[in-house]
Amino acid sequence: MDIPTVAIGALGGTIASTSSTASTAGGEVVPTVTAEGLAAAVPGLAAVADVRAETLAMLPSPALDEPTVLRALAWADAAVADGAAGVVITQGTDTLEESACLLDLFWDRPEPLVVTGAMRSPDAPGADGPANLLTAVRCAAEPRSRDRGVLVAFDDEIHEARWVAKTDSVSTGAFRSPVFGPIGRCVEGEVLYGVAPQRVPPLVLPDGVVVGVGDPRVPLVTTYLGDDGHALRALQQAGVDGVVVAGFGAGHVSPAMAEAIGDLAAAVPVVFASRTGSGPTGRAMYGYPGSEVDLIARGAIGAGWQAPVKARLLLWALTATGATRAQVADVFAVRGRP
Ligand code: ASP
Repeated sequence: MDIPTVAIGALGGTIASTSSTASTAGGEVVPTVTAEGLAAAVPGLAAVADVRAETLAMLPSPALDEPTVLRALAWADAAVADGAAGVVITQGTDTLEESACLLDLFWDRPEPLVVTGAMRSPDAPGADGPANLLTAVRCAAEPRSRDRGVLVAFDDEIHEARWVAKTDSVSTGAFRSPVFGPIGRCVEGEVLYGVAPQRVPPLVLPDGVVVGVGDPRVPLVTTYLGDDGHALRALQQAGVDGVVVAGFGAGHVSPAMAEAIGDLAAAVPVVFASRTGSGPTGRAMYGYPGSEVDLIARGAIGAGWQAPVKARLLLWALTATGATRAQVADVFAVRGRP
């Protein structure tokens, strides 16, 4: 019987971390296991897919950056062009929601691209990496996973990249989609979806534009009680290409911060998001200084339902392609909605 080919690209993370190197003194772990090693540790994998494994990096996920993720994207694209039915990327969980989101912004193929990792290292009792990798490969090999963009497979659940978030620092069930929930499950080896494919079209790059060239500076600033705007003003002085502000509630800030946002928005795109972890930014709820209505009047753009870290990646990608403020607002008006 023919089985589908699935390419596995490994970037590092806990799923690949052991303490068997000279660089660790005690029980602490660092990435050491290759993509081939990860695949070899999964019982029954060969019956699910013809796996082609390749080590793309050996990094903890806080050391990943946009260019590394975009190189993984190009590798995944080449793997599908070479005949893979789907692709799996393994990486650390700390930045997994961001990598998945960045990949999803540009993944323009119907084939599934699935990201996974582990909360427990391979040598720990109850290591979850092999189970997560098996689920991810099943998901990548499954025809019903097509046309869904980038997915995250974790703890037998399947999430859309644009909604998933790491919501616990240690639990094996660390990934949730707080707004709309997971879209699928893997049960008894079967990949099941509760919703039909429904995908926001990926970003289209203007001719000749290469993302990552120019490396825009787009920081994320979280506001706080009594914020006087000095951190944002310092960033403006240092030079930025755009900023995302994680505001209170539906995207609110103090009066002083509102003024700093207005001054910055006159120079570069400023996007405000909600720091709550769930729910959208408002559009017409409140009229006080620092409310969403006030911020919009000062030229800032609401992130809608996009979480601050994902709004930052979208603004980074748009800035990297030289989008104008009006284009940024148009894209957020579409991608900020479910
Ligand atoms: N704690 C992380 C993980 O689960 C480490 C990392 O993100 O690389 O993989």
